[in-house]
Amino acid sequence: MRGESLRVSEVFSSIQGEGPSVGTPSVFVRLQGCSVGCTWCDTKYSWDAERGEERALERLLQQVKGAGPQNVVVTGGEPLEHPALGPLVQGLHVLPRRIEVETAGIAVPGDLPVDQWNVSLKLAHSGVPSERRLVAPAIERFRGIVQGQHIARDVEIAQCSDKRLVEALNAAACKYFGQQQQDAPRLSGRVHYATSR
Ligand code: SF4
Repeated sequence: MRGESLRVSEVFSSIQGEGPSVGTPSVFVRLQGCSVGCTWCDTKYSWDAERGEERALERLLQQVKGAGPQNVVVTGGEPLEHPALGPLVQGLHVLPRRIEVETAGIAVPGDLPVDQWNVSLKLAHSGVPSERRLVAPAIERFRGIVQGQHIARDVEIAQCSDKRLVEALNAAACKYFGQQQQDAPRLSGRVHYATSR
């Protein structure tokens, strides 16, 4: 970890606004760089991996530590494309902090001490070709993480259409939140499911 540096878009404290930890005071670490290219993306300033600010990992960890909240949300950009995601997560784990990582789920995640993956698969209305936004090995890996927590044994994701994907992930979300499917939040606009260790 010593000497590692990474490109950061911004670091700020706020309240987690979505998912199982909604309402939790959190430090958000927005990493720079995303190649997905959703047409409606509201953080296009985070796309270019060369922009943002180069920051020493040790300095970033001290900044997070000084911010106060125990929950850290690593977001982007696309964290799974960031070369220093592993060292960052390991460093946060050592602090220690509870770690969430927000991702579009377009790459196979490493074996990292992430407490909660917030996976938001992109649908056709993102304008991104399906082969770039629905990567079967990555989805399978996240499904494995979910299954390991006995949340969604019956999710069938590989090679399904967007509609089936939404239905499958809605079912998974219902199980996660312990709700009946009809009571679950509608997820068709933004497929979002989360896992916790
Ligand atoms: S994956 Fe996220 S950061 Fe990347 S373009 Fe889509 S919405 Fe924006």
